[in-house]
Amino acid sequence: MSMNKSWKDKMWIFSVIYFSLGFFNIIFAWLGMLCFITPILMSIFGKEKAFCNSYCGRGQLFTLLGSGKKMSLNRNLPAFLKSRWFRYGFFIFFMIMFVNMLFATWAIFSGSGSLNASVRLFWTFDVPWEWANRTGESVPLWAIQFAYGFYSLMLTSLILGLLSMIIYKPRSWCVYCPMGTATQMICKIREEERL
Ligand code: SF4
Repeated sequence: MSMNKSWKDKMWIFSVIYFSLGFFNIIFAWLGMLCFITPILMSIFGKEKAFCNSYCGRGQLFTLLGSGKKMSLNRNLPAFLKSRWFRYGFFIFFMIMFVNMLFATWAIFSGSGSLNASVRLFWTFDVPWEWANRTGESVPLWAIQFAYGFYSLMLTSLILGLLSMIIYKPRSWCVYCPMGTATQMICKIREEERL
């Protein structure tokens, strides 16, 4: 196995480190932006689906736990979860929630809101997470609020992915993952431009 291959196979470790860091210091949630920006840039400028196929730590984690550790019931995903309307609908919903999070960040930035030091799971349940706010006054409040909001999105999608992995096949989350849908759309546009 080449060095390059073994390095790429270990991307799941970064996912584990990322989610662990969020328990100690929420500001590390900003690192998750790499998971947003990298797949988009790779699908625009690189090989199609290269991020999903080789670099996504979360996808690797689901394979590792679901197939390697046999934590998956290996059932087929219901047809409606694979359908186009659900995948695009979930993508739009995810983006609306992202913009909503940006509004919460803006409210703090403009001085019209106060910090919500909790992680909001499934866009509904606020889980107190004050202990992870360890930045003191060195980091502006809006940046901390963004970190809480972004970590909420990341953790919610991880939990959804793990549940999908357990109940269905290991990589079921990848069928309706918003980043997967986004890169797929970009690849489609690139393909049409080539025709
Ligand atoms: S679909 Fe989403 S979770 Fe799956 S490999 Fe791609 S980016 Fe990662």
